[in-house]
Amino acid sequence: SLQDKLDKALHNIKGRGKITEINVAETVKEIRRALVDADVNYKIAKDLTKRVQDKALGQNVLTSLSPGQLMTKIVHDELVELMGGSQEGINLSGKPSVVLIAGLQGSGKTTFSGKLANYLKQKKAKNPLLVACDVYRPAAIEQLKVLGKQIGITVYTEEENKNPSSIAQNAINFAKENKHDVVIVDTAGRLAIDEAMMNEIKTVHQTIKPTETLFVVDSMTGQDAVNTAKSFNDTLNFDGVVLTKLDGDTRGGAALTIRTVVEKPIKFISTGEKMEALDLFYPERMADRILGMGDVVSLVERAQEQFDEEEAKKLHKKIAKNEFGFDDFLKQINQIKKMGNMKDLMGMLPGVGKAIKDVDINDDAFKHIEAIIHSMTPDERRTPSLINTTRKQRIARGAGRKIEDVNALMKQFEQMGKMMKMMQGPQGKQMMQMMSK
Ligand code: GDP
Repeated sequence: SLQDKLDKALHNIKGRGKITEINVAETVKEIRRALVDADVNYKIAKDLTKRVQDKALGQNVLTSLSPGQLMTKIVHDELVELMGGSQEGINLSGKPSVVLIAGLQGSGKTTFSGKLANYLKQKKAKNPLLVACDVYRPAAIEQLKVLGKQIGITVYTEEENKNPSSIAQNAINFAKENKHDVVIVDTAGRLAIDEAMMNEIKTVHQTIKPTETLFVVDSMTGQDAVNTAKSFNDTLNFDGVVLTKLDGDTRGGAALTIRTVVEKPIKFISTGEKMEALDLFYPERMADRILGMGDVVSLVERAQEQFDEEEAKKLHKKIAKNEFGFDDFLKQINQIKKMGNMKDLMGMLPGVGKAIKDVDINDDAFKHIEAIIHSMTPDERRTPSLINTTRKQRIARGAGRKIEDVNALMKQFEQMGKMMKMMQGPQGKQMMQMMSK
């Protein structure tokens, strides 16, 4: 994954206070390649990585995060911002509101029109009317009728009328008479941009004055999608973009490029042929997809929130002075616990989520450890060497555990102490270096 690559590129600055210039330059190249692989336009990727570079150089490296994780977070935030930050809905203010659907043939207009009608009916308690305006392909009209029947939505057609503007206008009148509050106009597309098509849709647009014009584009078409978006935007000045066929293995970089080039928000994404496969567009999720990662970002955010630099320093001192006790151990456990449910946390790591889907990990193990530590006296916690067999029996009874559980915890604690001490010495430094290679 991108993050592994970044970690590799940055391994030699682990443990240093700041991200250094030379490493960032290498890493930025990696990021640029990853973005271009995900269909982000080269120039946009280049500008973006330049900004990332500037930001990264000012960042301190938190010891709890790898520089790779930190860089990924910076790139991610930059992507989210470029894609508009938040989710944008559609304007349904008219009486009726009129939504015009435009795009090339095969982009998924008719399918999306059905999905949008279904969504508005199910989720927004609307009473939509679908309008078939493709006067060239009777099959397209038939397709919309079939969809309408399937989702229980009225479809307005005029098979003899060859003028799309007049069909659309008549449909709006029909909607007013029949209490439809949203009119969704599915238009004819061509296989490629041509002037006649642009003129036709422009006329429809001027005639019906839609409250919302949505441009539908197939995400599989990569960079071509961007050129198409530009032409349609020049003609219609549309309000938003619908990105279809995101159920394929496309990484979604076209979303970023379209957004940047036409400066219009992506409002919906379509992820399948079923009528339910429609989602609102969330920049955060798309950024994750473009970077090809699990939910690493929220993991990093949580670590940043929970990590307390002062506490970490105190802990290091204690270990050096051999004063690490059970209270500190408990604090460590609580830090981990504050980050959330173990299974959720692990599920956020790329590659791990799927693997542990069916495994039963629970937080009980922590509960047992806590109960045992809570059953110790303050003296015992500070100086674990006091704990003899009689004390162990008492602790076990108090915690409602077996003496073996207390023994196991003592052993774990000892090993942890040994390891921590080793890490502090010259041997440890060597080991850390080896591990980060
Ligand atoms: P139109 O010519 O723009 O109206 O496009 P259609 O709605 O007829 O869609 C063209 C083809 O793409 C059809 O076979 C649809 O079933 C399919 N399609 C549309 N949207 C999606 C999607 O989100 N995912 C997938 N896999 N197929 C889609």
